[in-house]
Amino acid sequence: MERIFGRPIVTQEQMRTRIRELGRQIASDYAGKDLVLVGVLKGAYAFYADLARAIRIPMRVEFIVVTSYGARKKTSGKVKLVSDLTEPIAGKDVLLVEDIVDSGLTVQYLMTTLSRRKPRSLKVCTLLSKPERRLVEVDLEYVGFKIPNKFVVGYGLDYRQEYRNLPYLAALDQGDEGEQESA
Ligand code: 5GP
Ligand code: MG
Ligand code: MG
Repeated sequence: MERIFGRPIVTQEQMRTRIRELGRQIASDYAGKDLVLVGVLKGAYAFYADLARAIRIPMRVEFIVVTSYGARKKTSGKVKLVSDLTEPIAGKDVLLVEDIVDSGLTVQYLMTTLSRRKPRSLKVCTLLSKPERRLVEVDLEYVGFKIPNKFVVGYGLDYRQEYRNLPYLAALDQGDEGEQESA
């Protein structure tokens, strides 16, 4: 793995520094609130674990599992809920934690679905954003890194379910964008 992806586009050190900043910012913004941190699996698992430990205020951890299906090489926009939250979020301050916002369709689906449950607030924290690729406008409260239009792997993000455990972010030089099946 290390040999294939020799040049990280975001290094482990850059991740650490940025996540520490995000954690401090979120802790200050949510102090005294009823924070529920909702990780969107699988992609957000690595970011989530580091971010949660950088937010030094009381909160609850929750996860939701979604899969996008349909067209293979581009986002179909059809998102399926594979596994739901374990508790109601009515009246809570919900912060969605995503790996990457690309077309914006996954986040749009999650915002629509979760807002029906009447949380007090509902915002998004994403490690990565590819603004060039946006198909729908989404409001991102916290963004770790804006990246160019390249298919990236590592730090939770996969190519055909592999490379999620790569400890840094690398661009996959494939000439296509791979199958974007599971979020
Ligand atoms: P959306 O297009 O709905 O904003 O993003 C859908 C999903 O596509 C993301 O959650 C992620 O799983 C996947 N995705 C988008 N861009 C990339 C990328 O550059 N690399 C990887 N591994 N997955 C991506
Ligand atoms: Mg994927
Ligand atoms: Mg995702």
